[in-house]
Amino acid sequence: MILREIPTILSGTFQKISQTLSDKSINKISTDSRTIQENDIFIALQGDKFDGHRFVDEVIDKGAIALIVNHEVSVKSTKEIPQIVVKDTLIAYQEIANWWRNHVKIPIIGITGSVGKTTTKEIIAAVLGVYGNVHKTQANYNNEIGVPKTLLGLTTNHNYAVIEMAMRGKGEIALLSQIACPTIGIITNVGTAHIGRLGSRQAIAEAKCELLAEMPENSVAILNHDDQRLVETAATVWQGKTITYGLEGGDITGELLENQILRVEGMDFPLPLPGRHNALNYLAALAVTKELNLDWTFLMEGVTVNLPQGRSQQYSLKNDVILLDETYNAGLESMKAALQLLKDTPGTRHLAVLGTMKELADASAELHREVGETAEKLAIDALFILVDDPQSQAITKGVTTIETQSFPTHEQLIQRLREVIQPGDRILFKASNSVGLNRVVEAVLQQL
Ligand code: ATP
Repeated sequence: MILREIPTILSGTFQKISQTLSDKSINKISTDSRTIQENDIFIALQGDKFDGHRFVDEVIDKGAIALIVNHEVSVKSTKEIPQIVVKDTLIAYQEIANWWRNHVKIPIIGITGSVGKTTTKEIIAAVLGVYGNVHKTQANYNNEIGVPKTLLGLTTNHNYAVIEMAMRGKGEIALLSQIACPTIGIITNVGTAHIGRLGSRQAIAEAKCELLAEMPENSVAILNHDDQRLVETAATVWQGKTITYGLEGGDITGELLENQILRVEGMDFPLPLPGRHNALNYLAALAVTKELNLDWTFLMEGVTVNLPQGRSQQYSLKNDVILLDETYNAGLESMKAALQLLKDTPGTRHLAVLGTMKELADASAELHREVGETAEKLAIDALFILVDDPQSQAITKGVTTIETQSFPTHEQLIQRLREVIQPGDRILFKASNSVGLNRVVEAVLQQL
């Protein structure tokens, strides 16, 4: 990308330039003053807490060759540096990212859904890594700033990109889809996350399906067949090519063997992560490879996926105790998936240590009760509930037969777990991140 091209890319927001632009090639475009190097363009984003315009002197010192700003700023430096003034620097950032994405012309896989976005992204990236050079969303760069950042990290050496898209409300996925223009759009499922803001599951389904509505016409939708609300809602906005995947049916369907082998069309694939939900996530990856005409025999040896801390993490301890650490986050669907995984992990006793699922607004009591009902249906042996706030107590409302103990503090919970853990136990830990259940996992790990 050369500097002189920038104003033509910014058709929606460009206002004026302070001086003529040269033909210099741009090293990179960044909103982060700390990472600016020679020949970079700095875009000054204006947020509630930070205003990038305050850092222009720093980026000029570091060698920036142009600034994209909301208003012309006076600079201390004597270096002549063009300022490209736009109406909105965030829109400018998104327009440049979109331009670059279209310039790179590789398959872009966009993923959204209520749960399993990060896991599915990581599995797809690992699977596509068998066939080529993959670019993927890092950390949680999955919003209106993160997606452009991810797209601008694409290089002409990449063969595929896997882009995660998250939302808090209506209209957000539509924007991300317009920016990323996915050639393949995946929706993992429709759950209850953000139900407080959106009002109903149907509204959540419609918000997720914005991904499809905004994709280029010749793109392909890949949908979880086992989520009928999703499939039906998708059909109202997307008439293009669709591939469904599922354990209960769909175009790509399979059988899960012993929780870790997925049999599809007569071929056995070792799962990089255990459990039914990860089998579904892997089926999504197989659907992608099918669409891209990639040979499945290369996947039969298996791929490795390392998730960030607290997601699908298992610790095998001495005395044959296994801890399932799912403390990174929790919603109804992932609670259900984790309880199922616990039950499907062979062992003497199955114990669940659970805490609050946050941000469920009015639906909170009912959804916590549903977690209790799920544990009961699965015949989990005992529940240990951290009630550092009153919400998680509602889990007990769904339980009549399981032994249930509640603890007001982390310390009391840790103390009790020390007493009860026995050889052969399988123990799940799950709550929203802010509950801090990871501290309990750490304490148990230290002690066993
Ligand atoms: P967030 O945006 O909060 O990071 P996410 O959609 O990226 O969430 P993951 O981080 O992949 O989701 O997974 C969150 C939890 O959901 C994990 O505990 C994981 O085990 C579980 N999970 C992963 N995939 C699925 C799935 N397909 N169905 C249900 N639960 C799943």
